[in-house]
Amino acid sequence: MAIRKIVNYPAEILEQKCKEVVKFDKKLVKLLDDMYDTMIEFDGVGLAAPQIGLDARIAIVDIDDELGTIEMINPQILNQEGEQTGPEGCLSFPGLYGEVTRANYVKIEALDRKGRKYQLDAEGFLARAIQHEIDHLDGILFTSKVTRYLEEDELEGVESE
Ligand SMILES: [Zn+2]
Repeated sequence: MAIRKIVNYPAEILEQKCKEVVKFDKKLVKLLDDMYDTMIEFDGVGLAAPQIGLDARIAIVDIDDELGTIEMINPQILNQEGEQTGPEGCLSFPGLYGEVTRANYVKIEALDRKGRKYQLDAEGFLARAIQHEIDHLDGILFTSKVTRYLEEDELEGVESE
């Protein structure tokens, strides 16, 4: 188990488009395991590689549902529908929360840790978390999408990504 250090805003790595992963080796497996440990340690529901200082299109999401941990390598959004507006936070912005409008449904295609391609349909909060993480891989931060920042008394149950 290894907890990585979270990169907080501002940092160049958080605002750049990350590189595609081409090597599916033991190092990648270790990295994914470390990302999971780090996400859990900091009580997040998602984590993207640039948030631990790595220029790579890798992100994980775990909203504690029956799907468990979703590992997304080189993910792409194939389709999106609808709209949802809700509270969002980010591990790279401790203590900052805001309302963000995103698609309510997304279909993604990504690779797993063995380099196998898969597709996933997600809606609601899971779709939100997935979009937040994929944005990270393009250097897009949630603050660029916040329509209203939230006060402390509005924050019950809001988790960071
Ligand atoms: Zn984030």
